[in-house]
Amino acid sequence: MNARALAMVSAACYGGGCVFALGAIAQFMGHPVGLGPGWLMLIAGGLLALVGYFATGALREATDRQASALSQAELLRVEMDQHRAAVDYLADGLDVAVFICDPKASVVYANRRASEMFRFEEPVGRPVLAVTLSHDIERLVMDAARARAERAAELSFSYPEERTGLVKAWPQPDGGRVFLTIFEITDLRRLERVRQDFVSNVSHELRTPLTIIRVLAETLQDEGQASDEQRRDLGKIITEVDRLSLIASDLLVLSAAESNPPKMQRCDLAELVRAAAEELKGKASEKGLALTFMGPDKLMLAANSHQMTQVARNLIENGLNYTSEGSVQVRLRKEGGEAVLEVQDSGIGIGSEHLPRIFERFYRVDKGRSRSTGGTGLGLSIVKHIVEAHGGTVQVESALNQGSTFTVRLPIVAGDAQSAEA
Ligand code: ADP
Repeated sequence: MNARALAMVSAACYGGGCVFALGAIAQFMGHPVGLGPGWLMLIAGGLLALVGYFATGALREATDRQASALSQAELLRVEMDQHRAAVDYLADGLDVAVFICDPKASVVYANRRASEMFRFEEPVGRPVLAVTLSHDIERLVMDAARARAERAAELSFSYPEERTGLVKAWPQPDGGRVFLTIFEITDLRRLERVRQDFVSNVSHELRTPLTIIRVLAETLQDEGQASDEQRRDLGKIITEVDRLSLIASDLLVLSAAESNPPKMQRCDLAELVRAAAEELKGKASEKGLALTFMGPDKLMLAANSHQMTQVARNLIENGLNYTSEGSVQVRLRKEGGEAVLEVQDSGIGIGSEHLPRIFERFYRVDKGRSRSTGGTGLGLSIVKHIVEAHGGTVQVESALNQGSTFTVRLPIVAGDAQSAEA
């Protein structure tokens, strides 16, 4: 029974009770009112008053319950408002642009950083494309909504100015909303470019003076006036100049590999690797090492052939440099959608503590040994950069005095697959 019905019942009972009580009093005082005998009216009045009393009690309880439900709802509402304000405050303080979109890529929420990044006033209800003017961002949101899976990419967008960001979109599990975050890395990329340009310019600038020093040192060496000691010193100058020239040219190769996406063409990796191994056969036999190649006659893929030769050369040359007896085996095969190149040697191996760092530029396990083999400390970082720019990976397995195996995996894209292997 609801509160209003209870109120009516209690009012009616109290009213009726009063009427019967007054009737009974009038009856006893000798003024009959026609409602029956006095004692009956007294009982009826009493009963009605009793019912009225209980109805009033129930009414009070119902009213109390309603009031407490109302105050709880009010409390919840206040709590929710506080919670929402805290989340808004938190989101506005983030250095990451945050959007919440519906599955059709319309914005339902944007934080302050998002407003600043794309300079808009009121994004809510507008398509994310209209807000960001980036088809790539819109595509990422749509893809995440359609696939019900996270999508992430490094994207550049030009409105309102040229920027680069790490963009991530992921849907709510029920597919109702798509969250989009953009972490800006414009400055980071710019600094990287400045560093690459600097390294490349310095390497370039070093070449001419190094060539002049070398020529002059050779001329002095050839002139008859130099003593034996001076001639020996001039020889050292020439060796060091050659080393510096090698470092300068490796730095140039590295910065070219870093800054430009590789110019791909269809090439036969089997032929390139075989040729690199052939070229180094002389060096192997000088050291008394067996250098072998095993692989298919042909393995076609889209790659930069010059850079692939460099990868093979660097790995084989390292195998020869760091092995004093035994062999260097070069193996190439197709495995699933990948070309796998393995270079295994029986050399000095690499201690496990050095393994995580050997792909860093200028990192050498043993500086003296690297110098004596004519190494620049850049060979493996060149390999890593080239391989990763081709979408591949390079790994190493090695143990001290037990040799090393370097494994390069390169994707063979769909177009290459038919003619990948002969
Ligand atoms: P480097 O020009 O000094 O050979 P790399 O970048 O090619 O420079 O290699 C980095 C370091 O990793 C080397 O100095 C050497 O200590 C170690 N290294 C590379 N390849 C091998 C290998 N096949 N066996 C043992 N050590 C190796």
